[in-house]
Amino acid sequence: IFKGYIDGTPKETDMELKLGSTIKLEAPKGSSLILVKNLYLSCDPYMRGRMRNFHGSYIPPFVPGSVIEGLGVSKVLDSDDPNFKPGDIVSGLTGWEEYSLIHKNDHLRKVESDSIPLSYYTGLLGMPGFTAYAGFFEVCGPKKGDYVFVSAASGAVGQLVGQFAKLNGCYVVGSAGSGQKVDLLKNKLGFDDAFNYKEEADLDAVLKRVFPQGIDIYFDNVGGSMLEAVLLNMRIHGRIGVCGMVSQHSLSDPKGTRNLFHLVIKRVRMQGFLQRDYLHLYPKFLEDVSGLYKQGKITYLEDMDQGLENGPSAFVGLFSGKNVGKKVICVAHE
Ligand code: NDP
Repeated sequence: IFKGYIDGTPKETDMELKLGSTIKLEAPKGSSLILVKNLYLSCDPYMRGRMRNFHGSYIPPFVPGSVIEGLGVSKVLDSDDPNFKPGDIVSGLTGWEEYSLIHKNDHLRKVESDSIPLSYYTGLLGMPGFTAYAGFFEVCGPKKGDYVFVSAASGAVGQLVGQFAKLNGCYVVGSAGSGQKVDLLKNKLGFDDAFNYKEEADLDAVLKRVFPQGIDIYFDNVGGSMLEAVLLNMRIHGRIGVCGMVSQHSLSDPKGTRNLFHLVIKRVRMQGFLQRDYLHLYPKFLEDVSGLYKQGKITYLEDMDQGLENGPSAFVGLFSGKNVGKKVICVAHE
């Protein structure tokens, strides 16, 4: 349950576990509701934005006292809609609870179970994977030989951006917040280089060291001081895909980003985007990325906690970098 609107970094106590509520295990007849059993729940940084009483964003705030809403993978138990039958596996918006009654909506997708783990439909083949795909290919416009930099590079989105860049003949460097993550980037995910930004006092200097030629594409997941340093190191006609600014989410007074004039000097295209603007590409994304995964050409790091009661700590950990890869909560096995 979401307790109430917050300032600053989310804490476990901003959420409450409520035991003992019961619901009838059938969807009300004639309603547009589907009864599901939740299997996997996704922890995503955008959910922090819904903990603020702000109505001007692309998604409304959570309702205090209500069940937290989030993306997940669920099994249909009952439905009046012939498109969703009992036993079907679906992905889409659901509740942080064991069973949910969810409204039919355009975003609810049937998952065709195959050799790919179901939980990956919250990550590799879900919203974060699609964000990496649309953001990198549509917004950043990669070319063979481009120098690509990715921040929060071991996370749900970043790890795939780096692998897409490598598959497209780019040189790619990632930043992450621990030695373990840096090691994974270099030795498991195929990045050409990586560094721990928490150990670097001078971000401009480290970028000059890893990109002596400068950066063609910056896939920005963090904003703030990393973006400031990147602007100084962009090449002429570079592109910046502004995917997210996780370093700024919890600041009540976000710092202004300096060095923006370098966009002009270097004629850089810096473009914010929402994955939902590219949904027409979703079928192609599923085909391309599941194909690459099955051929062993990409890998995916997942960081799973067991049990709904561990949801709050899993979510809070995103903002101190506790997650190594896509954070997901297993509520029940199929
Ligand atoms: P991650 O799985 O990467 O988890 C968040 C990570 O952010 C943490 O593990 C941590 O890694 C890093 N982080 C946390 N706080 C800070 C900080 N203060 N400074 C720098 N890094 C920090 O999340 P996702 O891959 O799901 O999301 C990445 C970004 O993409 C987010 O900004 C998110 O909001 C955005 N996004 C945007 C979408 C769109 O449509 N535009 C859709 C989906 C996501 P580390 O240890 O490296 O610090």
